[in-house]
Amino acid sequence: MQTGIVHSIETFGTLDGPGTRYVLFLKGCPLRCIFCHNPDTWKMEGGMEKTTGEIVEDVLRTQSFYKKGGVTISGGEPMLQHDFVKELLSLFRENNIHTALDTAGSIEIEKSAELIDLADMLLLDMKAPTADLFETITGSPMKNSLDTLDYCEKTNKHSVNFWRIISALNMWIFFRFISLANTNGRNSTYLISSTM
Ligand code: SF4
Repeated sequence: MQTGIVHSIETFGTLDGPGTRYVLFLKGCPLRCIFCHNPDTWKMEGGMEKTTGEIVEDVLRTQSFYKKGGVTISGGEPMLQHDFVKELLSLFRENNIHTALDTAGSIEIEKSAELIDLADMLLLDMKAPTADLFETITGSPMKNSLDTLDYCEKTNKHSVNFWRIISALNMWIFFRFISLANTNGRNSTYLISSTM
């Protein structure tokens, strides 16, 4: 049984995917977004150790709450704890619990594809519409996020893609996101939100 490092758990989440959800925030993130609201998720230190069995038991005990929702695995970057998340997604699938992965797509697609395939839904948080801006905002190259977006489009994965606008007035960023959405087809749902 795999053990993961958990930052916190929300048992009645309504913002991270459809319906009422059990939201598991995992520790660890390779990005350093300038607008990050959870910098205490960046490092593994200081988290709670939990086994997959403990998490699944917790959800099954209160399963009736999540009938129209499910479980969202978030972070930090949840796909950083690959083996733990893989086992969790498999166990929830066996128990017919809907799962969503809330990710910035910051892990190489060669590693993350298996987890994306196991999840029922991907909540993909694109941090910026261009490579230069992405690197300025996150401190990392955009490649992994773009590869994740392409993989979802190619495989028709049910994904909701969030475009973050740094300032609601910044129309240049808005139009670059629209153009990026168009170049990637229209299989996914696109949501544009502002931050700061
Ligand atoms: S991906 Fe999320 S958790 Fe990681 S630095 Fe960016 S905002 Fe923070």
